[in-house]
Amino acid sequence: MLLGVGGVLALDALGERPTVFHLNEGHAAFASLARTAALVRRGRSLEEAMVLVRRSTVFTTHTPVAAGHDRYEPRLVVRALRQVVRDLKMSDEALLALGGEHGEAKEPFCMTALALRLAEHANGVAALHGRVTREMWMHLYDRRDPAQVPIGHVTNGVHVATWTDPTARAFWRDEAGIDFSVPAVDRDPWPDAARVDPGRLWALRCRWRSRLVLEARRRLAHQAQRQCADADEVLRASQFLDESALTIGFARRFATYKRAPLLFTDADRLAKIVADADRPVQFVFAGKAHPRDTEGQAFLRQVHAMTLDPRFRGRVVMLEEYDMGLARLLVSGCDVWLNTPLRPHEASGTSGMKVAAHGGINLSILDGWWPEGFDGRNGWAIGDGQEPPAEDAEGRRRRDEEDAKSLYALLEREVIPEFFDRSTGGVPERWMDRALRSAATIPGRFGAHRMVAEYLVKAYLPAHGGPAAAERA
Ligand SMILES: *Cc1c(COP(=O)(O)O)cnc(C)c1O
Repeated sequence: MLLGVGGVLALDALGERPTVFHLNEGHAAFASLARTAALVRRGRSLEEAMVLVRRSTVFTTHTPVAAGHDRYEPRLVVRALRQVVRDLKMSDEALLALGGEHGEAKEPFCMTALALRLAEHANGVAALHGRVTREMWMHLYDRRDPAQVPIGHVTNGVHVATWTDPTARAFWRDEAGIDFSVPAVDRDPWPDAARVDPGRLWALRCRWRSRLVLEARRRLAHQAQRQCADADEVLRASQFLDESALTIGFARRFATYKRAPLLFTDADRLAKIVADADRPVQFVFAGKAHPRDTEGQAFLRQVHAMTLDPRFRGRVVMLEEYDMGLARLLVSGCDVWLNTPLRPHEASGTSGMKVAAHGGINLSILDGWWPEGFDGRNGWAIGDGQEPPAEDAEGRRRRDEEDAKSLYALLEREVIPEFFDRSTGGVPERWMDRALRSAATIPGRFGAHRMVAEYLVKAYLPAHGGPAAAERA
């Protein structure tokens, strides 16, 4: 109510007359009803008003996970909207049918269903997510073939300038002429990143890794202190990690589908990987679970317990107080960015896009944006893009096991050997090939400028140009 109805009222009070509304997720879907009511008050019929609102509304859904879609008790919705829809002369049944997934008044009122019904321009946030979304909402459109469902996709992108360390921005400007101060919409400048001297980027990467390790130690000692550890324990925590070890990061919300504990599926195999003193590898975890996501919290505890396991102590760490500041440090300092969602539950994922501008390399399940981003040489794909044979506990367990096996095999056969292959003057040549390819192929294609330009062409301009644009305003 606050976001949707209040938002429309607030814009009006400010004298803003937008011609297009872009709703992200169903939370603000009542905005479309508030706008319909306003048009009816100005003399339009209900049918005409709905057509006008539909044409000028863009809706983006961001998750295929059922819990991510708000559903409310029908009676509560009728009561809450009474004032808003007073002028629509709509029966309660007709109102509720707009949010009923099967067009019935008694089922829970689904905000995503309402938003989709009142938006002509609808999209998911990656190609794979678009496909999953069409299947997921097929019943709303009375279609039997998902390909006929009018939902497209605009793949997410990150604001690269915000997420790129100042020293990295200076490096790309000086070494490859990449200018962060102007939005590069017509030409992606990032392919030029492939031309820079690998040794110079490697030297910078080592500085970012050191910075991360030093800050992690400070935080780990502080965490130990806060947990009343004795002086020896605090001292040990301040010496955890290694500035030159292959550093693999995992930092994001601890939603269960992201499977943070997947890395520990076969702890003995992981212990062997971590025990190799000649080729040191370390893992840095950070993240939070939603206050009501008890399963996600259990995952967090599981990973935390592994950091206390003697086999992993000091080599697998968990940093608390996760926020954007810590995320910045991680996306620049980690050599590898680990992403292990259960396909196809990750709508897009964006943290992996942030590492590429630092020459970080993605090691990810082919889910969300990665099937589009991965080109065979700019990172690694875990698994072959398979999905669970069945969406039950057994199906998921089997998928977890297969994906974990693929992850270990990649670490043992490709990731670790490439990182420690230092034939030329201490610089890992094959590694830096991959790192530069990551920088050349990802930040431009998965940046916010490309994304906004795509929304403009696919959705905003068509929605703005509808016949009654002037009247809507
Ligand atoms: C970018 C970012 C994320 C996104 O993580 P994904 O799991 O890759 O979508 C999460 N948290 C923070 C703080 C971020 O900056």
